[in-house]
Amino acid sequence: MTRLIFLGPPGAGKGTQAKTLAQHLNIPHISTGDILRQAMKEQTPLGIKAQGYMDKGELVPDKLVEDLVSERLQQADTHSGWILDGFPRTVNQAVFLDKLLHTLAQGGEKVVNLEVPDDVVVARLLERGRKDDTEEVIRTRLQVYRTETAPLIDYYRDRQQLLLINGNQSQEEVNNELEKAIAS
Ligand code: ADP
Repeated sequence: MTRLIFLGPPGAGKGTQAKTLAQHLNIPHISTGDILRQAMKEQTPLGIKAQGYMDKGELVPDKLVEDLVSERLQQADTHSGWILDGFPRTVNQAVFLDKLLHTLAQGGEKVVNLEVPDDVVVARLLERGRKDDTEEVIRTRLQVYRTETAPLIDYYRDRQQLLLINGNQSQEEVNNELEKAIAS
């Protein structure tokens, strides 16, 4: 049973690593960013509500993502574990998740922090060229990361759930380090 939360700045490689590991462990990879982008594409009520925030690089309101994660973690395929990618992103969301996991009797989650220097992150994002990867939006997302999301590193360190991984190496090396860390 593996339950993992992936933290790290935008461009850290969370999505890629989370997806690879989830496939290997045969557990669902739950990316709030992917779910929101799909909802936007389909122009569902959730997608329409999220669009303006995402286009600007701002966080969508907690309630929207909290509802979607709550619903997702109650689906049958989560019984064997999961990887959460992009959630929680604020301390409020982390507190919400604690309560949710308690209610669902799902515990023992570990938190992976992918560490990558700022200049590397910006270079990677500009190269990736997703719709929300323009320079101005990237600047906003990094700022939001520093003020809203980075405090979660201490939050989880204090609770002794944190695994630190060097994200500034090849994808394969990151994957190896990750597999070792979760096995120990
Ligand atoms: P990245 O991996 O580059 O950080 P994501 O795909 O995780 O990007 O997220 C893209 C956008 O989706 C964010 O900039 C934000 O607007 C929205 N989003 C995703 N997850 C959350 C969340 N937990 N809370 C609020 N907004 C979120």
